[in-house]
Amino acid sequence: PQFPTGTAHFNSSIFWLTLQVSLLVFVILLAVVNIIATLLDHIDILRKERDEDGLTNCLNRRGFFTTLQHITSDNPNQRRYILLADLDHFKAINDTYGHAVGDEILRLFASTARKILAKEDIIGRIGGEEFIFILNSPCSAQHAIELANKLRQAISTAKCTAVSPAISFTASFGLSPFYTPIDTAIQQADNFLYCAKNSGRNNVSVNPSLLKSHI
Ligand code: GH3
Ligand code: MG
Ligand code: MG
Repeated sequence: PQFPTGTAHFNSSIFWLTLQVSLLVFVILLAVVNIIATLLDHIDILRKERDEDGLTNCLNRRGFFTTLQHITSDNPNQRRYILLADLDHFKAINDTYGHAVGDEILRLFASTARKILAKEDIIGRIGGEEFIFILNSPCSAQHAIELANKLRQAISTAKCTAVSPAISFTASFGLSPFYTPIDTAIQQADNFLYCAKNSGRNNVSVNPSLLKSHI
């Protein structure tokens, strides 16, 4: 019997056609996967830009309230606490050392808070030098108070090395139980923050009667 030979026959064989089609499908699939991965990356970057504060990488106001909504609807009955913080005499720091050093202190404040707080706690920057924390990790008010004081202490001992010699800074804190409506709970924490400012700054102010039922 005569078997066909030569490249002309090989090029039109089923094997060769199948190989070419498979390769083409593979390359198209690879390109599609690549495009999807790039798109997802871009969506992630856009989401971060929308929800995070570019200076400190904390959640911005929008990101904070969105995250809070998710967390509270996932687990509405969990005990939580609101901690509001405001850096002390921050205008004077800016005036003395410059705005760039002020920015560095805001970053240092945020990174120190991230080290002290638990992963499940939420950190938001809701004003120029004002931060809000939702403490999800403490199981009792006592624990929440300890955590707030630990944070206050860590902030007051952190050193900003953007200037030489390094400088320290402080913040005042107001602690309140979390409840809905959230605006009222935040207002409550803000009242205690105001007390902390009025009683000399660099301290945590808590309403003992409010917290009694939570201890
Ligand atoms: P108090 O202890 O009563 O809170 O005094 P304070 O000086 O911290 O408060 P005040 O509200 O008078 O000043 C806040 C300052 O924070 C004024 C503003 O220029 C500064 N600030 C706000 N946002 C930023 C920022 O993103 N970077 C820097 N460097 N400064 C900021
Ligand atoms: Mg302020
Ligand atoms: Mg301030």
